[in-house]
Amino acid sequence: MPELRRHYFLEEYCVIAKERARRPTDFIRPREARASKECPFCPGNEEMTPKAVAVYRDDGVFVDGETRIRGWWARCIPNMYPAMVPGPDAPTSEWMAIPARGGHEVIIESPDHDSSPANFDDEMVARMISVYADRYRYHTEQGSSYVSIFKNWGREAGASLSHTHTQLIALPLIPPLLMREIFAISSMPACPYCNIAEREASSGRVIFREGEWICIAPFCSQAPYEMWILPFRHISNLLEIEESMRSDLARALKEALRRLSALLNDPPYNYMLFQMSSNYHLNIRIQPAITRIAGFEKNTGIYINPVPPEQAASELRSVL
Ligand SMILES: [Zn+2]
Ligand SMILES: [Zn+2]
Repeated sequence: MPELRRHYFLEEYCVIAKERARRPTDFIRPREARASKECPFCPGNEEMTPKAVAVYRDDGVFVDGETRIRGWWARCIPNMYPAMVPGPDAPTSEWMAIPARGGHEVIIESPDHDSSPANFDDEMVARMISVYADRYRYHTEQGSSYVSIFKNWGREAGASLSHTHTQLIALPLIPPLLMREIFAISSMPACPYCNIAEREASSGRVIFREGEWICIAPFCSQAPYEMWILPFRHISNLLEIEESMRSDLARALKEALRRLSALLNDPPYNYMLFQMSSNYHLNIRIQPAITRIAGFEKNTGIYINPVPPEQAASELRSVL
């Protein structure tokens, strides 16, 4: 029978439709060809992109001048079609609109066209996370209210280029999704995420533990094989992580993506960092883009998930 499950602490629901239960092989699609010719993110093609705002090399962090900097291990460039800009035009005076002030960047995490965080070595994932922290700090210092960092992997997940990259959109407001959480958390006696990490550690939804981090299939998973990575310690954002915790997080993120890739043959997915400057509990959510968001979801905000998270966790635990 289907189950209507409620989110851990929000007024949010999903339908776990067990009788639709599927095997991982049902979700496997043929992999896209990965074009590398004329890839603007590949080394040697730096002129094809706007000037980088941060170029990460072993000898420091630089900014592109007239000639583009080579020899990088990560590169951060302005998005060609930005959703937010540092100096926006005045918005329309109809109804209500505010200036789209902020920033929109693309972080190219590796010069290697055929790599991805699922097959990066631990050091590369750790460096990628340090770039996330660096750009998060920059935009927070610029006065942005929220810095959205997310990765779209695969065309079905929204990636227009196959070379691995992450996007960052800095916003002039706290998005409604986070506002809802902050409001709910403020009325609770203790942080719900601290409780989730502790309780799920002994549940059938735990996938693995890595140092002070845990990876789970959340009780109310919106998508099949959804995973959350969160620290046991109450930490609001990447800037509050110490060096040793950062390398454990790198291993945890890589481990989660490696397991997902092995189980579903490198599926399209999104991962999103949820963090705030204070009074929040950092978490990373990975959602495979293998089911369609259709009329019911758009009509109700309730997601139908044909794979119970307990089954997903069991398969993700045993795949490697
Ligand atoms: Zn490339
Ligand atoms: Zn907490």
